[in-house]
Amino acid sequence: MAFIVKKKINGGEYYYLRESRRDNGKIRAITLAYLGKNKKKAEKKAREFLKNREKIKNEEINKENMTEEKKETIITKEKTKISIDELANFCKREGFIFRSSDIYGGFSGFWDFGSMGIELFNNIKKEWWNYFVHQKENMVGIDASIISHPRTWKASGHIANFNDVAVVCKKCKMATKIDKSEIGKVKCSCGGDYDVKGEFNLMFKTRVGALDAADAYLRGETAQGMFMDFRLVQQTSRKQLPFGIAQIGKCFRNEIAPRDFLFRSREFHIGEFEFFINPEEKKCVLLEDKHLNLKIKLLDAETQIEGKTELKSTTIGNMLKENRLEEWHAYWLAEQVLWFNSIGLTEIKIREHKKEELAHYSSATFDLDYEYSFGSLEIGGIANRGQYDLTQHAKESGEKMEIFDEKYKNKLIPKVIEPTFGMERVFLAVLTKAYNFDEKRQNIILKIPAKLAPVKAAVFPIIKGEEYERISEDIVKDLRKEWNIAYDKSGSLGRRYARNDEIGTPICITVDEDSLKDKSVTIRWRDNAEQVKVKIENLREIIRSVINGEDLFKFGKRVNTRKKD
Ligand SMILES: [Zn+2]
Repeated sequence: MAFIVKKKINGGEYYYLRESRRDNGKIRAITLAYLGKNKKKAEKKAREFLKNREKIKNEEINKENMTEEKKETIITKEKTKISIDELANFCKREGFIFRSSDIYGGFSGFWDFGSMGIELFNNIKKEWWNYFVHQKENMVGIDASIISHPRTWKASGHIANFNDVAVVCKKCKMATKIDKSEIGKVKCSCGGDYDVKGEFNLMFKTRVGALDAADAYLRGETAQGMFMDFRLVQQTSRKQLPFGIAQIGKCFRNEIAPRDFLFRSREFHIGEFEFFINPEEKKCVLLEDKHLNLKIKLLDAETQIEGKTELKSTTIGNMLKENRLEEWHAYWLAEQVLWFNSIGLTEIKIREHKKEELAHYSSATFDLDYEYSFGSLEIGGIANRGQYDLTQHAKESGEKMEIFDEKYKNKLIPKVIEPTFGMERVFLAVLTKAYNFDEKRQNIILKIPAKLAPVKAAVFPIIKGEEYERISEDIVKDLRKEWNIAYDKSGSLGRRYARNDEIGTPICITVDEDSLKDKSVTIRWRDNAEQVKVKIENLREIIRSVINGEDLFKFGKRVNTRKKD
């Protein structure tokens, strides 16, 4: 029998769904789900959870006749599921994300990274930069200004075409945006008809200067900076075609109805690169078996035209054979998926754009969706932009945008493949993937890859006394030369562990009497709470290895320290 319990933690109230089970003749209560902080919502969530569990149980019965894929979906369903509201609450409670201007009631569409959030976000950006810029022979990075010459946006078409249609539902009064092509065709989710309020440009306008003030815009995408700097970068970095320019930066869109936490905000980060290729260069020399054999889930254009949403299991190599994209496009699509996989995000789906969705200059575009616990949402994309942008800037500025290609001995305007990443969406994917409620420990454990963890290690003296604090502080001081390290000398050991489990700290280091005797400490691994004994002098090397994905338990003997705290 399932029931709801209320717990008080640090002055806040939290609701959990629990259930009594008979275990070896004893009755034991276990936690089924975290239900949030609101009693009414908790009751609703509990009903949904139990209904969903019933459904899964029924599916279980038929498991025998099931395909591999269906089994996989069931496994994901059994994992701790977090809703978008719970995620927002969790992010606030643990210092990942706050509403902007919270003391004024927030400001719609704007968010702040808290002390934990910025560490995680910086680590994600670092991993991205490392993978796509430092590890690639033919890529360089830039950081262009957020405000650029207003003619930029005339050339790019953003002033004329970057519009949404604002509508308000006649029935439920909810305001939202739709595409121009959807006017008269779509209805609100409540079934009501839309009242069309007009077309609005998404660019944020601002004034530059005081006396001769001119209208300018905050950039709506980072791409234009790379196009405008294209020749300067090529000359100064001495790159030959094919090569790319990468950037991670803030973008601004004056969304009509920002919603869904960080998913539709007015200020956000895009990570993207423009990869320039001679149009004659059909072969991609970088394509390897790991790209061609990469397994992906694809929703192709034909399936969508039939009105279906079934995903096909295929490979990048098959997509090439089916002429869905060109070799360079295939290479970068594979690289995107490989990067997502490298930070633990394996639930990527690819959606091919239908012919009518393509921008007039593009020959192929794909969306990359991530299977969040609250639904499948876009996390990135990859477009073939052809020669469009460079040609537009050549026309608008009167500058030549051609470069000389040594290999083909001709002057040309390159064509462009553009992989894009919604960086906040990557951040949320990492969090939802890592989020776990541990039944045994009755605590959230954020199983984040160690290389992305906001805090790499926490140090706790567990015996009171100056000498233990001194050893602890020396360890902290040394480790802080390389990483973000937490030091916590008070409170129950259980609470100190729990706090670090919740923010995903991979290892906790405890200083005890052995630290005085033989200069050793105990390290506890977040995911299984098991411990090893190691020498203080080896700590740096061990942490470095753990961050690189190595197993902590090869560095020392497992110890059983069920100490009382
Ligand atoms: Zn409505």
